[in-house]
Amino acid sequence: MGDGCLNCNPKKSVISISLATNGFSKTDVEKLICKLNCKIEGLNASIQERKNHKREKSFIIYIGSSSVLKFLDYVGEPFLKSFSYKWDIQGYSEIKTICKCCNREFIHYGFNKEYRVKCSECRKK
Ligand SMILES: [Zn+2]
Repeated sequence: MGDGCLNCNPKKSVISISLATNGFSKTDVEKLICKLNCKIEGLNASIQERKNHKREKSFIIYIGSSSVLKFLDYVGEPFLKSFSYKWDIQGYSEIKTICKCCNREFIHYGFNKEYRVKCSECRKK
């Protein structure tokens, strides 16, 4: 649990989690990701390569914005108060918005409601 971090940037509307699995082999990390994605419905964890100052490769688990809430829900409340800051998502949430273009309700993730006014279909136009 100590080896993970929540990257939260309300200004850029970015949120993600990295799990420092650097000590594990690529195969093991891939297996872990498989397990996570199976266990937690809708989760989309992926592998990311990191290089240290000696240019040695290691692998971490990356959980992107649409999966962060699902992951935190699954993990539950921190069992140590000192880890609470890792749960501080500063109001980041699933937001249901009515699209200004097509009037259909759509879901996106962000820090406030003004962030997105059009659904993904209408933004393509
Ligand atoms: Zn729309």
